Amino acid sequence: MTAAVDDFSLLVDLKGPADLIDGPAYNPSLVATDSKLAEVLAPYHFDEPYPCGLASCRQPHQHGYLVITVDGTETNVGQHCGKTIFGDDFEIKANTRRRSADRKYQLDILHRALADKNKHLARTGELYNRRFGTKWAEDALRRLKEGISRPAASKLHAMAARGETSVEDVREATAEEKERHRAMGSDSKPLRYVTEKLGDLQGIAFLTSSPHQAATA
Ligand SMILES: [Zn+2]
Repeated sequence: MTAAVDDFSLLVDLKGPADLIDGPAYNPSLVATDSKLAEVLAPYHFDEPYPCGLASCRQPHQHGYLVITVDGTETNVGQHCGKTIFGDDFEIKANTRRRSADRKYQLDILHRALADKNKHLARTGELYNRRFGTKWAEDALRRLKEGISRPAASKLHAMAARGETSVEDVREATAEEKERHRAMGSDSKPLRYVTEKLGDLQGIAFLTSSPHQAATA
């Protein structure tokens, strides 16, 4: 990274119109015919549009730039009126400054994340290792799976994954059931097995969840 890319010293943080007006060199109605552009200081994105600082424009702009002229006067201009008054020089400087502001914004986010890194890692570690933390939950889940045998565990897992709660059993049909089935529909296949619902098993969704992932996502 070059020094130029890192140089945010001229960049002004403009949160609202007050940050424009409070500048001692700010002119709310600049007659720019005799003024030449010295520099674009910063882009702004206000919540509400604010009147343009060019006497020839005065339109409210929600997005614009704080500029300084060669005679040291500051004012705010929009993208189009700025170009109309100050020409290509404005456009080049405005684009450069906007890219610089975007980089600074991203770098600030990264720096904040880096500054908080140890805090976040410590918090993650604490959640993992605490008495009933994610390590405990993972161990408990593993012991449960081992305890109920692999076939039962995989059946419960499949149920949980499909969101099913009904517990069913398949048994051979009794002679009476076979006879009743035959009497009801002569052209259907003979009845051999009957599926019976034994009950409902609620709350098994946790089987397919990852405590560690849930705690750190
Ligand atoms: Zn304007």
